[in-house]
Amino acid sequence: MRSVETDYLVVGAGAMGMAFTDALIDHADVHVTLVDRRHAPGGHWLDAYPFVQLHQASLFYGVASTVLGSGAVQRDGPEAGLQERACQSEIQAYFDDVLHRRFIGSGRVTFLGESEYHAEGSSHFVTSRVSRDTVQVHVRRRVVDATYLSPTIPATTPPPFNVTDDVHVVAINELATLVETPNNFVIVGSGKTATDGIVWLLAKGVPPDRIVWVRPRDPWMLNRAVVQPDPVVGIGLVADIMEAAASAESLDDLFLRLEAAGVMLRIDRDVIPTMAKTPTLAAWELNLLRTIKNVVRLGHIRHVTRGEIVLDEGSIPLAPGSLVVHCAASGLQYPPLVPIWGPDKIRLQTIRAGFPCFNAALTGYVEATRDDDRERNRLCPPNILPDTTASWARMQVRGTIAARTYGAEPDIATWANSCALNPARIEPAQRNDPAVRAGAARLAKYAEQGLARMSALAPEPFPNINTV
Ligand SMILES: Cc1cc2nc3c(=O)[nH]c(=O)nc-3n(C[C@H](O)[C@H](O)[C@H](O)COP(=O)(O)OP(=O)(O)OC[C@H]3O[C@@H](n4cnc5c(N)ncnc54)[C@H](O)[C@@H]3O)c2cc1C
Repeated sequence: MRSVETDYLVVGAGAMGMAFTDALIDHADVHVTLVDRRHAPGGHWLDAYPFVQLHQASLFYGVASTVLGSGAVQRDGPEAGLQERACQSEIQAYFDDVLHRRFIGSGRVTFLGESEYHAEGSSHFVTSRVSRDTVQVHVRRRVVDATYLSPTIPATTPPPFNVTDDVHVVAINELATLVETPNNFVIVGSGKTATDGIVWLLAKGVPPDRIVWVRPRDPWMLNRAVVQPDPVVGIGLVADIMEAAASAESLDDLFLRLEAAGVMLRIDRDVIPTMAKTPTLAAWELNLLRTIKNVVRLGHIRHVTRGEIVLDEGSIPLAPGSLVVHCAASGLQYPPLVPIWGPDKIRLQTIRAGFPCFNAALTGYVEATRDDDRERNRLCPPNILPDTTASWARMQVRGTIAARTYGAEPDIATWANSCALNPARIEPAQRNDPAVRAGAARLAKYAEQGLARMSALAPEPFPNINTV
């Protein structure tokens, strides 16, 4: 068996593996072997539905050394005034360019695509899915698991319900390649993928009454206008969260206050949402989603037969000629929270709230610039991804404390302030802007009270995770 040597073996060339590798090679003279079972970098974006776009600004996505897109504000269309958001082909082209020009071009990264990683004890192997050749990889420094938060998507995850043979259930991807026009579309799912599917159908002229939306939970979503790479908007958002939290009587009250402040959006004003994965949504998308009146709130689907959809709390007829559209993969994953620097490997997770690319880049920077795992784990405690209002509040508390900890290190603060992926970036020249100062003053006024209140409303079940 052939063997190769490398300093770092990074498993997973999705956004997180790419962002980690980029920051690492920028700050350390090391060799990285990057492995993915997909043929190219970009992870889940390679199998996404063709009309997908980032839900956040392109500037917040990708790797630290290379901006995705042009950093431009949209001039036309329903999102005029908001930052551009890359579509699938742009994201794929971007990661291809970073891999070939920057990584492989540097001579310090080897990419083993279409290859499966596996370990046997402390030995590491990579097997080509094309040739079946296996190489043993001798790792001088670290193995990096960049698959720990890998999201599930409909194209690669079967629907989470039974389907009798003669019923047509398709992943959302197939909306773009229909052979026959269905009479009705039954969209299954409560999250960002379902909203994307509905917005796309409506924008293509499908009347709202031909869409049935099976929505087991109602979602809270972030108003895209308040998640923008602009320090005034960024600091205003954090100040809004802390101000709302400071006097919130319950988690529902917190989210209703954030709705009143223009931060959170919900589709149906008569329903208090329980889901808080909080992707961003624009006002024009919200208006379209509100035109769907056939909303089924009977829990999750158990099975679908030719004439019926059976759910946890009842059943509905399935009209002839309906197409059931699977948008029900859970997306975000919630594996156990573990120290990022473990004895066996580095497991990439989030640190500040959200923004996986920034967190992976921060991990790469800290790996390159510190030499003690205890210290690295102190600076970068793992965070959770949100699902409910309680986990969303916990994520805010954990993320704020973590950002204060790593931000207290002068070199990290300087690096983070130069990194476009960082939503909290305030360049030195912007610090004296009166609007930034006003936001900072409001944040200072409410931060401690807001953190204390969120901690009380959503107590921390992992109190000792910061200590390794
Ligand atoms: C539709 C959608 C839209 C999103 N939009 C945004 C957004 O706008 N902004 C934002 O910040 N986040 C967004 N996210 C979330 C974000 O994309 C993800 O959290 C993050 O980018 C996922 O990257 P990843 O590298 O963790 O996982 P992945 O992209 O899944 O990459 C992991 C890779 O590991 C590989 N792999 C796994 N196991 C092995 C193995 N044994 N051997 C070899 N390879 C292996 C897989 O093939 C995969 O390519 C979105 C997510 C989805 C699903």
